[in-house]
Amino acid sequence: MKLVVVGKGGREHALAQKLKSSPLVTDLWVAPGNPGMQQAGFSCVNCESAEAIEKFCIDNGVSLVVVGPEALILSDLKLRLQKHGIACFAPSMEVAQLESSKLFCKGVLKDAGVRTAACQVSYSEDQALLAVGKHDFKSPLVVKADGLAQGKGVWVCNTWDMAEEAVRTLGRHFGFPLLLEECLIGKELSAFALCDGEDFVILGTACDYKRVSSDPFSANTGGMGAYSPCDFVNEADEAEIRSIFSKTLKTLRDKRLPYQGFLFAGLMKTNEGIYVLEYNVRMGDPETQALLPRLKTDLAGLIMKAVTHQLKNEVCELASESSVHVVATSEGYPGSPMKLGNPITAKVLSAPDRHLYFAGVSRINDQLVNVGGRVLGITALGSTREEAREKVYQEMQAVNFDGMYLRQDIGL
Ligand code: ATP
Repeated sequence: MKLVVVGKGGREHALAQKLKSSPLVTDLWVAPGNPGMQQAGFSCVNCESAEAIEKFCIDNGVSLVVVGPEALILSDLKLRLQKHGIACFAPSMEVAQLESSKLFCKGVLKDAGVRTAACQVSYSEDQALLAVGKHDFKSPLVVKADGLAQGKGVWVCNTWDMAEEAVRTLGRHFGFPLLLEECLIGKELSAFALCDGEDFVILGTACDYKRVSSDPFSANTGGMGAYSPCDFVNEADEAEIRSIFSKTLKTLRDKRLPYQGFLFAGLMKTNEGIYVLEYNVRMGDPETQALLPRLKTDLAGLIMKAVTHQLKNEVCELASESSVHVVATSEGYPGSPMKLGNPITAKVLSAPDRHLYFAGVSRINDQLVNVGGRVLGITALGSTREEAREKVYQEMQAVNFDGMYLRQDIGL
């Protein structure tokens, strides 16, 4: 099978690496990939638009495309490929609203009878400010923009002043409606499923680190690291997570919006049970880099079964080992200016328990340099999380570029 992985970050590097190891895959390209992936032996093709990817796939007899980033899931790429009989493992644009509209997502969760934070919807600034005025702030109020906001659309507010500022700022930047949600208290985790429109398999759980440092009030980032599995998830929680996916997917089917693709549930484990904070219609970055090295089942085989609606009775086997993934970022990230263009020293890791994934890198005169916020990440596996942590930080000592920054507490 000839396969294309779409995307250029660490998540796509991990996907490509896993897929390449499948006996089903004869040829694999990454579109566009990055020069680090190229150095690691992947064929990267310079296609970023849906049109360019479509053309490449036709010209090269590609039969399966696996899409990483949400921007291309929300484009017409799947429709374009389907016209030529090329399978595209990604949800349709319509059902992808699960991520791109929090209001749509809330409606699905309500219909599915899945626990989610109670919420009021405000269609204007006046309406939102009125609702804020009625909140007693014995517990915080969560103010959210409806659409995609790249991590800037959610404010957890402890005071009236902050909530009013959230309403004005989010309203100005992202428009209305806004969602005003009850604040849940608990432990956050991410769970991943692979869905064929009818059935699904659970890939596993991971916990990520969103803040740039261990200070809980420090800046939000794309993710500074992750570990898998989440050790506070017991068997009863696993059953609840399965039920959450099952009810959600059934509700979508009932709405004639069958879901095919990776599905990422952002969850909160509370004293009352597991709540859904959000769904994303793709794998997480950096959770993918922590989760996939633990996957023993052939990922390409699972995806082929998903695109041909044959996932029923499939299971997914994960290594019992723990994994820890640590991201190295450019100095200044997530703010600006960042210190970019510095030569990177990093050796490609190919041991089964250690993986290096490239993200924001470019090549100048045959030398890899950092060009993005999140530059690369390393995953290590160990019989305990502590062992995985030790290995990953040991491997990070061999990586260097001017201004390199990483959190030291991932997996602690
Ligand atoms: P954006 O829309 O800006 O891209 P997002 O889609 O990641 O952000 P959410 O996952 O809904 O938004 O929320 C981001 C974070 O805010 C969560 O990871 C969680 O820490 C916190 N959060 C969201 N909703 C709640 C809630 N109801 N109670 C407590 N914390 C919440």
